[in-house]
Amino acid sequence: MSDIMKASRPQGRSRRPKTYDEGRVCGTDGCKTVLSRYNRAEFCHTHKPVKYPRLRGVLTQN
Ligand SMILES: [Zn+2]
Repeated sequence: MSDIMKASRPQGRSRRPKTYDEGRVCGTDGCKTVLSRYNRAEFCHTHKPVKYPRLRGVLTQN
């Protein structure tokens, strides 16, 4: 009897948007830019890692 109860029980966790720690700051040393709770990035807009453009078949050789 109780097995049925378990099976039909909704998941205990309520669905809420994922948030991150409040008051996080940019991971760059010395940067005190506060990141949004909804921003999963570790760095502020200024310091976030640059996405390098894809260069199709073109490799620069040093
Ligand atoms: Zn920063």
